[in-house]
Amino acid sequence: MRPDILNPLFAETAGLKGVGPGLSKPLDRLGLTRLRDLAYHLPERFVSRRAVAGLDESGVGEQVVVALTPLEYRSSAGRGPFRVLAADDAGNVCTLAWFGRNAGWAKRQLPLGQRRWIAGRLDQYGQMLQIVHPDHIAEESATALGQLTEPVYPLSEGLTQGRLGALIAQALAALPALPEWIEPGALARNQWPAWREALTLAHRGEHREARDRLAYDEMFANALALLLVRAAGRARRGTPLAGDGRLRDRLALPFALTGAQRRAIAEIEGDIAQPAPMLRLLQGDVGSGKTVVALSAMLIAVETGAQAALLAPTELLARQHYDTLSRMLAPTGVPIALLTGRDKGRAREATLIGLLDGSIAMVVGTHAIFQEAVRYRDLALVVIDEQHRFGVSQRLLLSQKGRRTPHCLAMTATPIPRTLCLAQYGEMDVSRLDELPPGRQPIDTRVVALDRMEDVIAALARHLAGGGQAYWVCPMVREEESADLAAAEARFAELAQRFGGAAVLVHGQLRPEAKDAAMARFVAGEAKLLVATTVIEVGVDVPDATLMVIEQAERFGLAQLHQLRGRVGRGTGRSVCLLLRGTALSEAGRARLALMRETQDGFRLAEEDLRLRGGGELLGTRQSGDAPFRIASLDQIARLLPVAHDDARLLVEHAGIEQGGGLTGARGEAARLLLYLFERDYGVQLLRGG
Ligand code: ADP
Ligand code: MG
Repeated sequence: MRPDILNPLFAETAGLKGVGPGLSKPLDRLGLTRLRDLAYHLPERFVSRRAVAGLDESGVGEQVVVALTPLEYRSSAGRGPFRVLAADDAGNVCTLAWFGRNAGWAKRQLPLGQRRWIAGRLDQYGQMLQIVHPDHIAEESATALGQLTEPVYPLSEGLTQGRLGALIAQALAALPALPEWIEPGALARNQWPAWREALTLAHRGEHREARDRLAYDEMFANALALLLVRAAGRARRGTPLAGDGRLRDRLALPFALTGAQRRAIAEIEGDIAQPAPMLRLLQGDVGSGKTVVALSAMLIAVETGAQAALLAPTELLARQHYDTLSRMLAPTGVPIALLTGRDKGRAREATLIGLLDGSIAMVVGTHAIFQEAVRYRDLALVVIDEQHRFGVSQRLLLSQKGRRTPHCLAMTATPIPRTLCLAQYGEMDVSRLDELPPGRQPIDTRVVALDRMEDVIAALARHLAGGGQAYWVCPMVREEESADLAAAEARFAELAQRFGGAAVLVHGQLRPEAKDAAMARFVAGEAKLLVATTVIEVGVDVPDATLMVIEQAERFGLAQLHQLRGRVGRGTGRSVCLLLRGTALSEAGRARLALMRETQDGFRLAEEDLRLRGGGELLGTRQSGDAPFRIASLDQIARLLPVAHDDARLLVEHAGIEQGGGLTGARGEAARLLLYLFERDYGVQLLRGG
């Protein structure tokens, strides 16, 4: 039960003054459903206004505060703006304009002949100075001048800074004072304000200590959640699995395992022979051979008569894994099934029955394999492929799917720097595949200016004529970015005209069937050229494709480029990666491309990626998608995450954990409140589930 003191924070935004049906949609879109969410909706930056004595061109383009006297109202016909002509004390005039806004409202705010303080952006429109939709109108200068620094919030359509600011102010006014969960010495040392004060300050101006404290809180909550989940997991029993090797011996492997693969398998074997459920991360660069390690682990489970599941992030990868595993499993006779959200009807029924009665020993699929309706006879091991986000593995650890808690192996091809690894996985055991299979040649990586497109296409033509396959990647920052999609389609049209039916296009907005069909043609070698947005990023394996072209490579992050490049160089032939760069190249973009040319070491690239992106970024990183936290920036992660983890560990040791996962002691109780604050992100229910 949530402690009463938190009730005001969990009151619904919909109950606030001024929230009508028109606002609930944009608020929902931003995830601002409770007062807590509003309080934590921190400004992305602040605007500073300059108080100016009068109107003059030098202020154009700036946010100003100026005293003006309204002279005349000018309504325009139709859908034109409502205008007010106004003059400063020296008689210089400008217009104030409102589009689509009720003129009555503006007239009430600006009675003719009465001096008012106006805050807004001064623009030049033809010969005239103007302020469109002034942000503030006040009778007293004091009120307006008090607003010289203003927060700028992330918005959604239908919401204005003014409306959102007013709602946030209501939320801040309702904040309770909470007992402190940070150790007093640490608070004093860092000069961090108390929680309620920190939130208020963070909305008021750039306040490093306040922002740091809030970021620390978030990471501390995350660290605590990880520790508690881990403790709960340890307390539960898994099934000790000791296979006899009879199935693994019969695998059809066309190669000998690398030393790193053998080490990883031995580590996994050691873990799952214990009664405590395994929670291990297998980190290995693209092409390092994680699949066969996963398969070996799964076979151990099957040798003991239990079941194993492999969870893939996309439909495409699930199918590819299914094909690969089926092929390798052929001589063992182990029954394996594919289960995705798209399977319906008879086939799905048969799979569900097979999993329930145990006649299907292995299943590969998307999240569908953990839906309510899917029951296992004895699920003993779960492998999660390419899962970067916190939580999934932990959730599974606590899931009730098996009779016992299944062992869990998470795999990632993103070589994560240690700090981020902690953030995303907590204190997981890690196996690293730090050795590539033998015979791989380095990928010849070149940076080419975009205006040499003709040469690039000629090189591609030669490559295809020689019987090779190739990838052509177009940037797609977000799936809904229609300009990017259009560019990708245009490029495809151009290449298809040149190379005919040899080219296929794959992007995120295709129907899944169409996507799979195109992919399948490429994998089978019928299609020679795959033009794609980043949907090919993870896992796809086509050894004959040895040329990769990446358009506008400077728009990708290093880790992403590394992942993409990893699609080639998988066979033993020489591979080439061409990074096409645009003309306007930023300093950071240039540095990234140079690094790509220089090294193929995924861990080094990951560290550099963090460094390059972390440097300039002060406020939250929530926009960048792959950021592990909503409040903490990369810079704050680097500075404060290790501390937050140490503190969380100390607290758990000192405060102790009572049965059911609660924290005890005064600071422990306070920290529980913190966990509730981040309930949605880090799942307190999850702790209770344990
Ligand atoms: P990833 O770690 O990216 O998932 P995969 O498991 O897909 O890598 O393996 C990449 C390629 O390397 C596959 O074609 C696989 O058959 C091959 N491979 C894996 N292990 C070895 C090995 N020990 N020797 C040679 N080739 C291997
Ligand atoms: Mg893989």
